[in-house]
Amino acid sequence: MPNKSRKILLLPGDGIGPEVVREVKKILEWFNKNKSLDFKFDEELIGGASIDKNKIPITDEVFYKSLESDAVILGACGGPKWDNLEFSKKPERALLKLRKELKLFANLRPAICFKQLVDSSTLKPEIVSGLDIMIVRELTGGIYFGEPRGIQPIKDNQRKGINTHTYTTNEIHRIARVAFDLAKKRNNKVTSCEKSNVMEAGVLWREEVQALKDKEFKNIQLNHMLADNCAMQLLRNPKQFDVILADNLFGDMLSDEAAMLTGSLGLLPSASLGEKGKDGKTRSLYEPVHGSAPDITGKNIANPIATILSLSMALKYSLDLDKEADLIDSAVQIVLDEGLRTKDIMSPGKKEISTTDMGDAIISKLK
Ligand code: NAD
Repeated sequence: MPNKSRKILLLPGDGIGPEVVREVKKILEWFNKNKSLDFKFDEELIGGASIDKNKIPITDEVFYKSLESDAVILGACGGPKWDNLEFSKKPERALLKLRKELKLFANLRPAICFKQLVDSSTLKPEIVSGLDIMIVRELTGGIYFGEPRGIQPIKDNQRKGINTHTYTTNEIHRIARVAFDLAKKRNNKVTSCEKSNVMEAGVLWREEVQALKDKEFKNIQLNHMLADNCAMQLLRNPKQFDVILADNLFGDMLSDEAAMLTGSLGLLPSASLGEKGKDGKTRSLYEPVHGSAPDITGKNIANPIATILSLSMALKYSLDLDKEADLIDSAVQIVLDEGLRTKDIMSPGKKEISTTDMGDAIISKLK
C-alpha cells in the first residue's frame, strides 16, 4: 500500500537525541519524495527539553499524540542539567510513563555484529563475525514490578530489602508468543532462559513456554537454558542462538551482555511493543540503546546508525514496510563497506565523517 498515510511521532529528547533523530527525519523525507510513501511525521519535546519548556518531562498532549501514532521514535532522555531533580521529576520519568501507559511489555534488542566492525568487539573475530541474534525481554512484569516490595526495619536495628518475582500464565504466554512469531520470520529457533533449578517462577516460566509452543508453534525449535548458562554461552559461542527469550530481570542483563558482543553502542537499535489497542494498532516505541551522550553533544560526531536502524525496525514491526526496512539495512551495510565511520567506530585506514555526513551517505545508498 504505497500511498497509505502513516503517522510517526518523533521525540528527539536531550543531548545527542536531536542530532541523531534529525538524520531519521531526512530518511523519512527521502522516502516521501522518492518512493511515494506518505509518512506524516510530527516532532515533540520529551525529557529535559520538555521540563525546560513545560516543567514536566512529558505533557498530556504529547502523550496522547504518542497513542495516536503508528510508531514513536525516540532519541534519548536525560543529562547532567537535570541530574539534581527529585526522582519523580527527572527526564527519564517520561520514558517510564510511555512504557507503562502504552503497555509496552515486549522489548526487542537485536545484537548484530557487522562484519566490517568485527574488530570493535572484545571477542575474537571468528566468534562474533556475522552474529545476528534477537533478545526478547519481558518488560512490564517480574521482579522490577512485583509486590510486596520495599525496605523494612526488622529487629536488632537491621533492615530487610524485599522484591517479589512474579509471573502469571498469561504474562508468560504473551511474551513467548512475540518470541515465537519473530522466530518464524527468522530461523524458527527460540532459546528460553530462566532459573528453574532454584526458582518456582522459573519452573512455571519453562512449563508455560513449552505448553504454548506445543499448542501453537509446533514447528519452532525450542530449547530451555538456565539464564546463567546462557550468559556464559553468549561469550563462548554466541552464534548458536537465534531468538533468546527471557523475563525482565534476566533479559535486562542478557541483552546488555549481547549488545557488548557487537562492539559499539552507537549501532544498537531497540523496539518496545505493546498490545493491540481498540483501534487495532499495536503500540510501539523505537529507540537507540544508547543515552543522551552529554560528553559529545553538539559536536556533530554522534553515530546516528542506532537510531536509523530503530527506524528500520519501526518500518518492519509497526508499519508493514519490510522492503523499505531492508533498503535501510543494506544502505547502512554499503556505507560501512565503503569505509565511512563516525568517530566512535573509527579505525585506521577508514574515513571519519560527521553525524550529518553519515546520514547523507546512508541516504545516497537508498537509491
Ligand atoms: P550514554 O549511552 O549516553 O553514553 C555512554 C558513552 O557512549 C559516552 O561516552 C557516549 O559519548 C558514547 N555514545 C553513546 N551514544 C553514542 C553515539 N550514538 N555515538 C557515539 N558515541 C555514543 O550513557 P550515559 O553516559 O550513561 O548516560 C548519559 C545520559 O543519558 C544520562 O542522563 C542517562 O540517564 C541517559 N540515558 C538515557 C537513556 C534513554 O533515553 N533511553 C538510556 C541510557 C542513558
